[in-house]
Amino acid sequence: MTALATALPGEKVHITTSPTTEPFWAAAKERRLVAPRCGRCGHFRLPPTPYCPDCQSREVDWVTLSGRGEVYSFAVVHGFPGLPDLTLVPVVVDLPDAPGARLVSNVVDIDPAEVTIGMALTVDFHPIADGWLLPVFRRAR
Ligand SMILES: [Zn+2]
Repeated sequence: MTALATALPGEKVHITTSPTTEPFWAAAKERRLVAPRCGRCGHFRLPPTPYCPDCQSREVDWVTLSGRGEVYSFAVVHGFPGLPDLTLVPVVVDLPDAPGARLVSNVVDIDPAEVTIGMALTVDFHPIADGWLLPVFRRAR
């Protein structure tokens, strides 16, 4: 049997936040996937940036998304330093509720051979260090 893809063990994942990124992580802690939308021109941007790359505005609205996504690109990684048996599927996710924004994450609990470009995904949240939750994705049912 092929090993199912997983996420890194939560205690090994440490994040740092800044005033620009904190709302993303605070929402994830509430099991909500959010994306910053420019308050002036409506451009979605991920990762969060202090200024809109289109119009340079600092205005931002944090929009709660449905959690639906679609595989834009992915890789299959066998083994990780110190964790030789781990299988990871890092993924770039298109977010239909946030046109133009993509999130880098992992697809979990799936045979890596079943992951395809365009596959429908749904967000889930994986516990990591210091009480934070990391958005990960599962195949949508
Ligand atoms: Zn803008």
